[in-house]
Parts: sequence; C-alpha cells; structure tokens
Amino acid sequence: MTVSQVPRRLRKQLLKLTISGSVLISAAAAFGCYWVVRSLSLEILKENAFLEVQQGVNEIDQWLVASKAEVETLANAPTIRRMDLSEVDAYVQRRMAQQPNFFKYAMGFTDGRYYNSARRELAESNISDRIYFQQALQGHTFVSDPIISRTTGIPQVNIASPIWPINSPTDLDDLEISPNVSPAGVFIGSVAIDRVTTVVNQLQYGYGSYPFALNSTGQAIVHPNPRLMSTKEKPALSFLETSDTNLAALARSMGYQEQGIDLISIDGKLQYVAYLPLQEANWSIALVIPRENIESQLRPLNLIAFEVLVLILAMLAVLWRVKVFEKKQLQKTKAAAELANKAKSEFLTNMSHELRTPLNGILGYAQILQREKSINPKQKKGLNIIHQSGQYLLLLINDVLDLAKIEARKLELHPSPVLLTPLLLNIVEIIRIQAEQKGLELVYEPGPHLPKAVAVDEKRLQQILMNLLGNAVKFTEQGCVTLTVDVLQAEAPQVSGDDSSQDSCRLSFTVRDTGIGISPETLPHIFSPFEQDKNTQHQREGTGLGLAISQQIAHLMNSEIRVHSDVDKGSMFFFVLDLPVLQLSGLQVSQPSLRAGMAQGEYR
Ligand code: ADP
Repeated sequence: MTVSQVPRRLRKQLLKLTISGSVLISAAAAFGCYWVVRSLSLEILKENAFLEVQQGVNEIDQWLVASKAEVETLANAPTIRRMDLSEVDAYVQRRMAQQPNFFKYAMGFTDGRYYNSARRELAESNISDRIYFQQALQGHTFVSDPIISRTTGIPQVNIASPIWPINSPTDLDDLEISPNVSPAGVFIGSVAIDRVTTVVNQLQYGYGSYPFALNSTGQAIVHPNPRLMSTKEKPALSFLETSDTNLAALARSMGYQEQGIDLISIDGKLQYVAYLPLQEANWSIALVIPRENIESQLRPLNLIAFEVLVLILAMLAVLWRVKVFEKKQLQKTKAAAELANKAKSEFLTNMSHELRTPLNGILGYAQILQREKSINPKQKKGLNIIHQSGQYLLLLINDVLDLAKIEARKLELHPSPVLLTPLLLNIVEIIRIQAEQKGLELVYEPGPHLPKAVAVDEKRLQQILMNLLGNAVKFTEQGCVTLTVDVLQAEAPQVSGDDSSQDSCRLSFTVRDTGIGISPETLPHIFSPFEQDKNTQHQREGTGLGLAISQQIAHLMNSEIRVHSDVDKGSMFFFVLDLPVLQLSGLQVSQPSLRAGMAQGEYR
C-alpha cells in the first residue's frame, strides 16, 4: 500500500461510514418523529372518543341535577315540612298532576315508616334500611341505585331529600349546613330511568361500539346484552364478580369513580373502553370501541411511516450490497495478488538458484586465475573486475532470495539460547576491521545491565545489526560509528549471578554515525526495496535491499526499525526487541557463529 493510497482508502471508508451513519440516524429520527406524531394523534383520537362519553355523562348529570332540585324543592315546601299526612297527600297528588316527571312520591318518618302517593296511606313496611333513606336522614339529597319496581317492572331510582323541621330555629336556607338540626323526615321522588337508558344507548363511536352503565355495586344499569341486566325476578350479576378478569378490573375502576380510556381485552379481543363516572350518582358509564375504529384514522400516517421504512431498508440493502460486492472484489484482488506474489517468489527462488550455480563457477575460476603467475597486469585487472562483479551479483542474488522468502512468508524465525555479549562483540570486531580500513572509529556502548543469555534468532539479529553497522561505515567518511545496546526498563533486570529471575527484557539497539546523512526526500522510502539515496556517491556499492530485508525481519520480531537523519551530520537507526531472558545454569547456549572477517554480504 502506498502512502497516497492510505488517505484515499480512509476517505472512502469515512464516506461509507458517514452515509450509513446518516441513513441510520435519519431512520432513528424518522421513527422517533413517527412515534411522537402517532402517540399525539392517538391521544387526540382517544380524547374524541372520551368526549363522546363525557357528553352523555353531562346530559345524565344535568337531568339528575334537575330531578334532585325538584325533590329538594318539594321537601322544603312548608306543606311537606309540616308532615301532616292528609295535607301532604293532597299537595303531592296536585303536584303529580302538574309535573308528570315522577311517577311516585313518598314521605318517610325518621323511624322508617312511610307514606307513598300510590297507596296514599302509611305503608306497613319500613324503609329505614334503605341507603337513600339513611343518606337523606344525614342531610344529603341522594340518588339510589336503579331498582326494578316490583309492581311495574320498570327500572327506577329513588331520589331522597331531607325534610327539615318546621320549627327549626335557623333560616330555611341555612338548614342544610346547620350541624345542630336533624331532618324530621325524608321526602322521596321515584323516577323511571328511561332517560338514562336513552342517553346511554345513544352513545356510540363507529361500527361495533356499544355503551354500558354500571351502578355503585357494579351491576349493569344499561347494557346491550339483556342477560346481564337485572329483571324483576333476578338481580343482575355484578361485573365485579365476573370471571373475566379484565372486565372485573374495569368494573373496579368504574366503581372507584375513576375515568379514562384504556386498551383492554374485552369480548375476546383488544378494544378501547372509555369510562367516566357521573357526578350526581355513584354510577359510571363506559363505551366499548373496537380498536380499528380509533386506530384506522392513523392509517395514512402508518402508510407514510411504512414507505419511509421501506425506503430506509432499501438504502441499507443497497449499502449492504455495495459492501458485500466490495468485500468480494477485495478478496478477489487479494487472492490474485497473493497468487502473483507466490508466482514471483517461486520464479525468483528458482532463478536465484539457477544463477548461483554458474556464478560460483565464475567466482571460483576467477580466484584460481588470479593466482596464476603468468597473467599480465591488464589481465589481472580484468580478473579483479570479474571477481568483484561476481561478488556483487552473489550479494544481489542472496538479497533477492531473502526478500522473496519474506514476501512469500517462508522466512521463519528460529529463536535459540544466545550469549548476548559475545554475539555483540563478534559483530563489533568484524565491523571494526571495515571501519579502521576507512580510518573511522567504532565505538561499542553496552548498557550496564545487559542480560547474559537471551532467546533470539541469532542469525537474523546479526543480519540486521551487520546491515545497519555496514551502512553506517559505508556512508561515513570521517568521525565514528557507534553501537549502543541497553535495557529499556525503569528497573534494571537482575542479572547478578547465574540465577537471573527476569523473564523477559526490552533491549534497545542504536546505530549512530557521523556520515553523509539521508536527504529528506529519500528518508520516507528508505525501507522500500531498491531505494537508494540518489544524492550519494555510494549508490553502486549496495543493492538497495539491505534495509528492506532488515525491516521485514524486525517486523517478524514484532519490532520496527526507525531512523533519524541529518544531511552531512549523520544518521541514527534504532529498534527495540522484547526478548526472553534465560537462566544460565544448565543451559545449552550457542557461541556466536560469526567468523572474524566474515563479509557483511554473507548475512544478506
Ligand atoms: P544499500 O546499502 O545496499 O544500498 P540499504 O537498503 O541498506 O541498501 O540502504 C538503502 C539506502 O539507504 C542506501 O543506498 C543509502 O542511500 C541509504 N542509507 C542507509 N543507511 C545509511 C546511512 N547510515 N547513512 C546514509 N545513508 C544510508
């Protein structure tokens, strides 16, 4: 991968990431908006349905308010308050003729005996156990739960109002709020609940919706199913006791005078139920609405959301297809590159072998001929050139072979126990000879805490160091070349004695020179094969493969060679290795395999 390809690939990835990110964010935002709009719309639709019930409730409440007012007015009439039966009867009969709303009036005494306008005399039965009677005796006007008249079979309610004593010391208007005065009796108006039935039955919200009303004990006052209604013979079953738990829970909420609109399973399917209590009686009215009656109005919104969803899914599918396609292409390209690489490596390996055989012949015969006494100086010069060129060619072939091996991933490391100091000293001694030939000083700076033995691929470590040191000598005309090896750790490894307990250590290797340096334009490519500084005179002395090979070996050792260089001042190459430290006792360590005087090229 070239330097210019990195940002392009990165840009492409970023673009793809941005597009898919934007699609996902838009999808999330669109879904969020849809959900908010849907919730709001649903609330509005539910509110509308709820208002339908509220209207019915208001109408019934108004009717109850008027009916209560009528009973209260009569209860407060002086004739009634005097509680003289004959007077009351005449008054009530007259009233019934004028106001046919109530089909019966009654007047109860505090002991529960009562007169009613139908029988027109004191009844034998007693109403002291009736809640409406008890409530009225406590000073409240009260509407009873509907009851089925035993005589007429018509559902009716009794509206009971207190009769305040005529000799009360307080003013008539204050009687109700005076705590010291007790009612002298109870005046009761009986009224049919047709009005309630009519209003409730009128409630509806689309096809399949139906209303019902429950009394304070959860019995149906109005219901489309006649079997759930009370008859003269049999009181209705309370919804509170029904086996349908959802319905029982709803009845409980209605009994507690709660209001709302809930989606519950009723009649075997999910339906909305809007329910609301009356203000003037302990009854509650509900309207069951099929779910689709409300939610069908959300259909256009759902349709838009669905289309947006399809669009987003289509975009994601396209992105996905593009990704899969690119992945396949990449795999194809990679496979083709690997194939080409393998073919190239095989070719190079074969060629190197093929070339080395005749080359060794050339070098051998050149050496034999050089020793011949009979050859003249011109021939000797020619033989020298043949020998030098052959050496260079051998170096090049070895380098190419190494690089081919690395590229084909055939180069493997073989770490073995190695005595570090002798290894480094051997390398230094070889390079020292080369340095001294050029009049350079070679400085070796070993750190004070270097481990004695480490596990490393000795041949490959030598190869890197020989290459770096060889280059340093090659590209330096005066001054010195320095090799520094040290332990890169805050705490120095314990290498005292043969029983070192250190498991691994981090070693830094630095090669410095005072040579010609590397030009800034060459520096970034210095580790690429065949890259040489065009500005130097030494180009022809090397193959341009040494650093590339060294860097690849460093990579195999999980390291990286780095470089700092200033033109005409010198260069510094360094790398760090994490190596296992070995205990010396009972250890079979190899002695450095370098022979003094071995040419740098033999490592490459
Ligand atoms: P070679 O030395 O065989 O040409 P290398 O891969 O070892 O190949 O080095 C590549 C190039 O890097 C060299 O040709 C040279 O231009 C530059 N170079 C390497 N080491 C040094 C150094 N110590 N000082 C200056 N230039 C260097």
